[in-house]
Amino acid sequence: MSVVLRTGMLVILLVMTGLSGMAVDRVAPLPAEPPAAQRLQGFWERALQEEYCTPEALHAQDAREQRKGLRYRKILRGHRRIPAVALTFDNGPHPEYTAQILAILRKYDVRATWFVVGEQAEQYPELVRAMAQAGHVVGNHTYHHVNLTSIPSGEIANEWCLCNQSITRILGSPPRYCRPPGGAYDVLSMAAAASAGLTTVLWTDDPGDFLTPGALQVEETVLGQIDAGSIVLLRDGSWRTVQLLPSLIEHLQRRGLLCYTLEEFDRDLRMPFSPYDRSLDQLHFCDHLLQPFDVIASRAS
Ligand SMILES: [Zn+2]
Repeated sequence: MSVVLRTGMLVILLVMTGLSGMAVDRVAPLPAEPPAAQRLQGFWERALQEEYCTPEALHAQDAREQRKGLRYRKILRGHRRIPAVALTFDNGPHPEYTAQILAILRKYDVRATWFVVGEQAEQYPELVRAMAQAGHVVGNHTYHHVNLTSIPSGEIANEWCLCNQSITRILGSPPRYCRPPGGAYDVLSMAAAASAGLTTVLWTDDPGDFLTPGALQVEETVLGQIDAGSIVLLRDGSWRTVQLLPSLIEHLQRRGLLCYTLEEFDRDLRMPFSPYDRSLDQLHFCDHLLQPFDVIASRAS
């Protein structure tokens, strides 16, 4: 073989190798992790499109559980005879809106309950500390903000435990309450929450329907339904929540409704003898001796 031919073959081989290398580079580049700001942006875009169970659906699910005799560690509403409601904020902390919501609550001297997402809490631990320092209750809203009824069952406990660990690292003690994203729960998520020391908290009122500008009639209807024992679902990370909150609190104050945290709701539901309704609470007291706590919460509704 001539030198010229050999050199030619070598050149062809090198060119082919180079081309195939380039082709591999082009076809399968290693995906770069998006910058933190971009990841968080994606999180909030997904969170604002989150689908929530309606209060009616949650109520119907509760009724089915009671018919089947299922006893979950769960609070669907507070005591109907104590003139207080619980404001609850899901999904935070948010780098911009959480501080604004905290400022509004401080202005009106109102305490609330925040269901924070573990990975968000780790990004903004100072905001979680600010919630606790202002007397608010901080609860668990899973670590990755996932629908617990559509992930593999082996991952459910992890979601509660990782978020518990994040909150414990930031505040020094674990949360007592949790809320499944979207209100989607089943027997597995309930059992995993209870093993993680958590009571699952749902809601009775969702003013989200009137977060669309101009829906004033819906606003009046939804606000009118909020009453003693209501647990109100609100979203952190939405400027509409910041906009709505002062008028919501003023509406509650005009109607003589106080704002309680979930800890205060929980305390009142467990209270054996209440000045508000002695006979009913004697019934709760008997249940308390015989059966798990969730029955007390159900009977109060
Ligand atoms: Zn959520």
